[in-house]
Amino acid sequence: MNEFQSTPPPVLRVESLSKTYEGQTAVDALSFDVRPGEILGLVGPNGAGKTTTLRSIVGILPVKQGRVLVCGYDVMLHEAEAKRCLYWVPDDPQPFDALTVWEHLEFTAALYDVRDWKERAEELLQRFELVEKRDALGGELSRGMRQKLAFACGWLTRPRLVLLDEPLTGLDPRGIRSAKRAIAEVAAEGSSVILSSHLLEMIEELASRILILDRGHKVFDGTLAEARSSIAGVEGGSLEEIFLKVTDGSLPAGRTSVQGGAPAGAPGTARPEGGDWSGGGAGSP
Ligand code: ATP
Repeated sequence: MNEFQSTPPPVLRVESLSKTYEGQTAVDALSFDVRPGEILGLVGPNGAGKTTTLRSIVGILPVKQGRVLVCGYDVMLHEAEAKRCLYWVPDDPQPFDALTVWEHLEFTAALYDVRDWKERAEELLQRFELVEKRDALGGELSRGMRQKLAFACGWLTRPRLVLLDEPLTGLDPRGIRSAKRAIAEVAAEGSSVILSSHLLEMIEELASRILILDRGHKVFDGTLAEARSSIAGVEGGSLEEIFLKVTDGSLPAGRTSVQGGAPAGAPGTARPEGGDWSGGGAGSP
């Protein structure tokens, strides 16, 4: 990049986000950016604060300490604009019992004001192996099918930011392969992705940058290459080795081993906490 080129603005900026539950700190002064086209792997041990962070970003949990900007919109001040930019696929999407698969796509297109959506919806039914389930009701879908429908609805909106919480749970081997391909493709088309998972091999395969949380703190933020070159004892190591090293308690809590990876690139479904199906969406029926 020369001096005349500037870094594109982040699709997501999290500034000093903190969250406590009944006095217990779940996330502590967490800051990070996600840039256009970037796939950020969000990892950490159980209870590290990953879900709390994701729920704060998508507006399920109110941001009372710190600030979250999605596409430049403060999620607390411009909630509808921020939500319109993102799509949230929780780990167990719950479609509406009374809508068919096709009606979910139709509903999502209306909610996100997607024009000429039908052709893309047909293509997404194919891509996520839902053609035969086109007229099945939400309540008739298996867990894996619900996951695939959440992907299809999310991809239909071409979100600037997609948030995926354990996206491979419940998928069969073919579904896993198509989901991984779909994640890589949506990022290649310009969407930014936050991929939260304990499946470190998948993160290693797909993510362009890794954010590791431990007990509410950021303990690493950067690329795998940066981790290998900056953390003693993991040269040439896998993400698993890096993960185990930075979360073994030997680093002081709150230490960021490497800050800010290379900038990487764009727009997400489902149902937040018993709420609406279109989790990132601007509203619910
Ligand atoms: P996991 O990998 O197990 O899903 P996580 O990284 O997603 O964990 P969070 O679910 O964000 O972690 O939890 C962070 C901390 O906040 C944990 O100590 C957890 O017990 C606590 N916590 C989360 N949700 C609540 C809640 N609704 N009420 C009280 N404490 C909570």
